Amino acid sequence: LFITLEGGDGVGKSTQAALLEEWLTGRGRTVVRTREPGGTDAGVEIREIVLHHRGDIAPRAEALLYAADRAHHVATVVRPALARGEIVLQDRYIDSSVAYQGAGRVLDAGQIRDLSLWATEGLLPDVTILLDLDEHSARARLDTSRTRYDRLEAERSEFHARVRAAFLRLAEEEPERFLVVDAARPVDEIAAEIRDRLADRV
Ligand code: C5P
Repeated sequence: LFITLEGGDGVGKSTQAALLEEWLTGRGRTVVRTREPGGTDAGVEIREIVLHHRGDIAPRAEALLYAADRAHHVATVVRPALARGEIVLQDRYIDSSVAYQGAGRVLDAGQIRDLSLWATEGLLPDVTILLDLDEHSARARLDTSRTRYDRLEAERSEFHARVRAAFLRLAEEEPERFLVVDAARPVDEIAAEIRDRLADRV
């Protein structure tokens, strides 16, 4: 079973991933928790380039770097774990690319999706949990974490509003894959809703 968590910065994906992993492990499942970009050694280097390179990277080059990270990650981590019958619980995947590189940076969303499908030989998640939160609340949460707040500050809130709208559009297009969760509530409530909605699938 391939589960991905999606949403903008500061919506609580890593917190929920940790709680979900604990629950799944408690039910006797073997879970591989991973993330993109940076879920492999090569991926960590690619993450460094895309997130910390001084100066701008051309949007198409950036899209290709994310796709390269994903291709390597899927081939060496995700597919082998799925083949062993394990649950892969992954922070960000194809929908982040469509939302950030597509809607965010004004590349063609269809092309970004095709690029990612080529990179992964067509691997789509079974379930995608979208943590939905307006960009102002997300930003307020990141306020406690200096580095991440700086990065968020550097990008315009209008950009984040576009990213959020893109995620919601994707969820509407594929309602059978997406679980949209209101991330404005307390952590435990969100975790409980995710567990309830996943219970019959795991
Ligand atoms: O959630 P995480 O800290 O891994 O995300 C790092 C950053 O990478 C995010 O803030 C997001 O802006 C960016 N990102 C992106 N396109 C992706 C994945 C992440 O722009 N496909």
